[in-house]
Amino acid sequence: MAWFKRQEKGIITPTEQKKETPDGLWYKCPECKTVVTMAEHRRLSYVCGNCGHHDRIDAGTYFELLFDDGQFEELDAAMTSADPLVFTDTKAYPQRVQSTEKNTGLKDAVRTAHGQSAGQPLVVAAMDFRFIGGSMGSVVGEKIARAIDYARQNRVPFLMISRSGGARMMEAGYSLMQMAKTSAKLALLAEAGIPYVSLLTDPTTGGVTASFAMLGDFNIAEPGALIGFAGPRVIKETIGKDLPKGFQSAEFVLEHGFLDFIVDRRELKQRLANLLGMVKK
Ligand SMILES: [Zn+2]
Repeated sequence: MAWFKRQEKGIITPTEQKKETPDGLWYKCPECKTVVTMAEHRRLSYVCGNCGHHDRIDAGTYFELLFDDGQFEELDAAMTSADPLVFTDTKAYPQRVQSTEKNTGLKDAVRTAHGQSAGQPLVVAAMDFRFIGGSMGSVVGEKIARAIDYARQNRVPFLMISRSGGARMMEAGYSLMQMAKTSAKLALLAEAGIPYVSLLTDPTTGGVTASFAMLGDFNIAEPGALIGFAGPRVIKETIGKDLPKGFQSAEFVLEHGFLDFIVDRRELKQRLANLLGMVKK
């Protein structure tokens, strides 16, 4: 088997001549392990074409998916957090905000914008999990409150896309006040007769679930999203019982009457347009 023998020893390809597969060219579904090109994954709105797994996407990607030709105007883009409690855990809070800003290019855990979606005006507030777990601090609350004000003043429907671990511990009580503030603004929106659709994505938990995320005229969710207030471990320890299968999944929550419907992200824009078209005055 002389032909099978490596004649030269060692790997001698110089580093600069090695062919590498560029990162970010392929996507592998974490559920069913199907591999597709990133271009195909993007074309499918970041949903697995095989099993329907919804990949987590950021606020900017939702804007691109929803607004016509990706055109929108962002509201309060420069608002950043103060440090009202002078809070320090493993780092000081302002340092944590600064390093997260640097890593993500975001100013806080929500982005708000208005534009046209399927030819109709729409205000969207989309949370971004990359910014301290999508936690709700005073900037998140204030930006959502102002987006609701904008929707009310301009008589434009409001869509909230939640993806959050809950209140931001570094702002403690200030975070909790955002629940009351956003809820009060939504009450004014309802009084003015402007439709509000709340889309719950994976995960929507804590103070976000306990306030604006569950106050929609329509509460809808992405398939498989974790939706709950406290985590399953905490609940299990509190009630001392095993939890049912699929507990806190969007499908479970729908079956128990907390959601109106579950929507595949590939159909989100069209279904939203149909829904808003129906309730238009
Ligand atoms: Zn899959």
